[in-house]
Amino acid sequence: MATWWAASARAGLRAWALPSRLRRLSDISSARNGDLQATLEPDPVLFSQEHNALQESLRKIIDKEINPFIDKWEEAGQFPAHKIFKILGQAGFLGVDKATEYGGMGLDFSYSIAVAEELGNIRAGGVPMAIGVQSNMATPALSKFGSNELKQQFLVPTIAGDLVACLGVSEAKAGSDVANIHTTAVRKGDDYVINGDKMWITNGCQADWMCLLANTSDAAPHKNKSLICMPMKLPGVHINKKIDKMGMRSSDTAQIFFEDVRVPCKYLIGEEGMGFTYQMLQFQEERMWGVAGVLKPLECLIQETIDYTRQRKIFNQPVLYNQTVHFRLAELATEIELLRSLLYRAVALYIKGNDVTKFASMGKLKAGRLAREVTDSCLQFWGGMGFTNEVLVSRLYRDMRLISIGGGADEVMLSIICKYMDTIPRKM
Ligand SMILES: Cc1cc2nc3c(=O)[nH]c(=O)nc-3n(C[C@H](O)[C@H](O)[C@H](O)COP(=O)(O)OP(=O)(O)OC[C@H]3O[C@@H](n4cnc5c(N)ncnc54)[C@H](O)[C@@H]3O)c2cc1C
Repeated sequence: MATWWAASARAGLRAWALPSRLRRLSDISSARNGDLQATLEPDPVLFSQEHNALQESLRKIIDKEINPFIDKWEEAGQFPAHKIFKILGQAGFLGVDKATEYGGMGLDFSYSIAVAEELGNIRAGGVPMAIGVQSNMATPALSKFGSNELKQQFLVPTIAGDLVACLGVSEAKAGSDVANIHTTAVRKGDDYVINGDKMWITNGCQADWMCLLANTSDAAPHKNKSLICMPMKLPGVHINKKIDKMGMRSSDTAQIFFEDVRVPCKYLIGEEGMGFTYQMLQFQEERMWGVAGVLKPLECLIQETIDYTRQRKIFNQPVLYNQTVHFRLAELATEIELLRSLLYRAVALYIKGNDVTKFASMGKLKAGRLAREVTDSCLQFWGGMGFTNEVLVSRLYRDMRLISIGGGADEVMLSIICKYMDTIPRKM
């Protein structure tokens, strides 16, 4: 049975003969979002010529240093974070919106969004996610609230790409319910002594330090937490395992245990007891960054689906000529543009100092939902070919499923939006 299937699949793959430019996932000359965007001027809504110049130079790094190796890293279940972060750090891409005195570019958050969008040209979700953890998830709180000494020690080398960072919030028993984490950091003399565990930690197997959320007192759950810079190569830090995942395969994800890990109290970020608040603020950037990261992969998928279904003939006509196919793709392309508009509005408000929690949550919710729709519809139109590991659509189908779960599940986003709409049921 297995032999029959394998033989027919091999014969079938040959017969379906993809256009050569679509054959390899890492073939960066393949059709991509440029085709969809070709007629558009640089986006005047949020992005200036400077944003576009930044994107162009990042694109060169992606084309030379990342995409040619991505299939290999996906297979290995890890990419070389230190090597790639050093390249990105030297070019300034890990601290676009961080202060120049710490090695950043000193630009506003819209430039980080331009970078996040451009990283969407990487032909797998794992590497952009890992880069985002380094540049916009583990470091915003340190950058905003950390002491100068702490920033010199952790932020400067992270922006330079000399250190790999990870973010330790989720635990095996507390993912969505962040307030319920159990890891403790107890003051003993000049040290915190850390005990507990962290789960699902991106970059966790390679990281040099963690932005750790831990309970530092017995106060109420929103007032008992602190963020601490915790070096990873310390006695008592045990990387229990690299988690085997269905998607985001090139990014390593770790489960980590802490057993009496001693960290100097001066590694505390900002004020003790403010960790929950800092983390919620950090989440806003993470969520907008995440929305920006889905736009190009989804546009790319639609374009590759157009190209494939145009040349794939069944019942004597291209698959694309079925109205249900081209209408669906038009519908999805429209939704991507709507998502982009929501994101740009949120970012424009954010850089002017507004609280954009509601819009960032709406964007994250919509990004997760839309990613599922686009990847599922496109995969369907590729037929059996879409079900192989030969094409980008199946990889993104797996990778992008995470968006509705990680960094706050869809239901958590809905709860936040409902709080802003004042529709959460109250005790009668
Ligand atoms: C690949 C990957 C990388 C990650 N990277 C990191 C990282 O670097 N650092 C980090 O700290 N964490 C990371 N995470 C963790 C991620 O943020 C959590 O998985 C996420 O917050 C959900 O938590 P959970 O998995 O414990 O799900 P649970 O909290 O157990 O939730 C399960 C499901 O319950 C439902 N649910 C949740 N809340 C509600 C509600 N209020 N109402 C109704 N239904 C609800 C949702 O459908 C949710 O998916 C990563 C996760 C993955 C899978």
